[in-house]
Amino acid sequence: MATIAFIGLGHMGGPMAINLVKAGHNVHVFDLVDTQVQEVAAEGAQAAASAVDAVSDADFVISMLPAGKHVETLYVTGDQPLFDAVKKSALIIDSSTIDAATAQRVAKVGTERGLNFIDAPVSGGVGGAKAGTLAFMVGASDAQFAQAKPILECMGKNIFHAGDHGAGQIAKACNNLLLGVLMTGTCEALNLGVKNGLDPAVLSEIMKQSSGNNWALQVYNPYPGVMPGVPSSNDYQGGFMVDLMYKDLGLAMELSQQSASPVPMGSNARALFNLHKAKGNGTLDFSSVLRLYQDK
Ligand code: NAD
Repeated sequence: MATIAFIGLGHMGGPMAINLVKAGHNVHVFDLVDTQVQEVAAEGAQAAASAVDAVSDADFVISMLPAGKHVETLYVTGDQPLFDAVKKSALIIDSSTIDAATAQRVAKVGTERGLNFIDAPVSGGVGGAKAGTLAFMVGASDAQFAQAKPILECMGKNIFHAGDHGAGQIAKACNNLLLGVLMTGTCEALNLGVKNGLDPAVLSEIMKQSSGNNWALQVYNPYPGVMPGVPSSNDYQGGFMVDLMYKDLGLAMELSQQSASPVPMGSNARALFNLHKAKGNGTLDFSSVLRLYQDK
């Protein structure tokens, strides 16, 4: 049993922390929103009064925060930076989806101070966080990865070592760029078929069994009524928000700029999600981008 500090108990962090409790670890939790701390404490975690309080005795520190600025402030630049408070032997795992440059910068500061900070963003959404089936993409040294793996296995079923520091965030940006392209492309094809008289369920099945097959058709059909239990069949509530997909495509654009790597497909997908967001749909599930094609 390890002592683990978990900072950031939102849609993802809350259920991830609960899975660590269920695996028998001693979990100290903190969030800026007290009700979220209390919800996880009710499942057996220890409520901490502050992030510093949470990490003081921890062997592992895990963070699940919105963006790079939150992560850098928490560990390095804030009033009470956690790099001043953690044990030297602790392994710090940031599972937030942030820009690779910030992940690499924070890891470098950590290394200079004799601390271990690694990036381990996730894929699998809130459902995967609850079920403990997330995919982790880890940027770390071999030794850090080996140390992190058993802890990550309490929250996920596929744990990948993407490469050195920052590589997890790069892998995540590449995956979500592809996801954005696949989802907009699938919406485009379904809308084209329906506008020309096809049944969306029939067309979905044809493409699923043909060369257009992809993840959106298999498990996340964007057309309402085609697939039960997915956001499109629940008025696009729950799931993965348009705002988050827009953020993740922005991270891919930053990477593309830094590496002069062309991303015309991702750039078009981002423009579509931006238009959809501008129409007030930022909090809907990202498969609702179908409505843009339907001019709704
Ligand atoms: P969320 O907004 O629900 O949760 C973030 C939490 O962090 C909030 O509860 C907030 O109060 C807390 N927080 C912010 N700053 C803090 C600080 N300094 N100290 C303590 N707590 C702090 O977001 P989420 O949906 O849980 O996503 C978290 C991260 O996971 C994001 O980077 C997101 O891109 C990524 N992600 C989300 C999903 C998803 O489906 N929601 C899927 C994969 C990855």
